Amino acid sequence: EKYGKYVNNDKQKSVKTINDKANRATVDQVLDPRTIRFVKKLFSNGLITEMNGTISTGKEANVYHCYNKDTNIEYALKIYKTSILVFKDRSRYIANEYRFQNNTSTNPRKMIKLWAEKEFRNLNRLYANNIPCPKPIELKSHALLMEYLTKGNHEPSPKLKDYDFKNLDQIIFFYHQMIIYMRRMFQECKLVHADLSEYNSIIHNGKLYIIDVSQSVEPEHPMSLDFLRMDIKNINDFFTKKGLKDIAIISEKSIFQF
Ligand code: ATP
Ligand code: MN
Repeated sequence: EKYGKYVNNDKQKSVKTINDKANRATVDQVLDPRTIRFVKKLFSNGLITEMNGTISTGKEANVYHCYNKDTNIEYALKIYKTSILVFKDRSRYIANEYRFQNNTSTNPRKMIKLWAEKEFRNLNRLYANNIPCPKPIELKSHALLMEYLTKGNHEPSPKLKDYDFKNLDQIIFFYHQMIIYMRRMFQECKLVHADLSEYNSIIHNGKLYIIDVSQSVEPEHPMSLDFLRMDIKNINDFFTKKGLKDIAIISEKSIFQF
């Protein structure tokens, strides 16, 4: 309600918005008429019956809370923003990736579509390999519908960064889980996350979940091992700050070899 609510009206089969100025400003950042067309398809598919406020507003994407009142299932809808600056930076991930070799477009609309497609594929790969991540549901251009990781009461499960650890053992438990997921992502999914951190992982139902995989690359990518080293460093930095220094931190080199 706070951010403006999009509700499907069965009679009109259209998306209605509450026409409040502040609400409009928030949603208009990403919900241009073209985007609304794609979101409407999720309504007409019957996948969702409500689109609510934002779970997260970021530089590159906004994540919205959605709901299906018939099945009583909640969803997260990630909508990528068209920002040339961001995509300039992102081109280094996509360049040289054979999966996207025929896509040398610099058209921002095409780029975000490509980016969303990449996240959808990577999420599917993780999901198929039993690496905990939000279940991918549907992709409509640059709008990606996925499972909503919630701790109940419609609230999102916390990011690793915000998780209230019970004790040192629990910190070590999640540290090891993260290292094992990194290894399994590489060896089983053939993916390097390439932006892994306490911001892009969520603690849900007592387990670590991996999110935000739009920039993930395959081992064949010329920078993949550099990205892997960066991921390892981010994770080690976070767990060092959490008090594992001199207790349980494994050297970056050992993790890399593992
Ligand atoms: P930004 O521009 O903010 O960096 P982003 O591309 O990093 O956007 P994500 O990391 O995928 O987007 O999502 C942003 C935030 O939204 C996450 O940090 C997480 O808190 C929340 N979030 C994303 N997906 C889900 C989900 N499926 N369930 C619950 N929360 C989610
Ligand atoms: Mn993120």
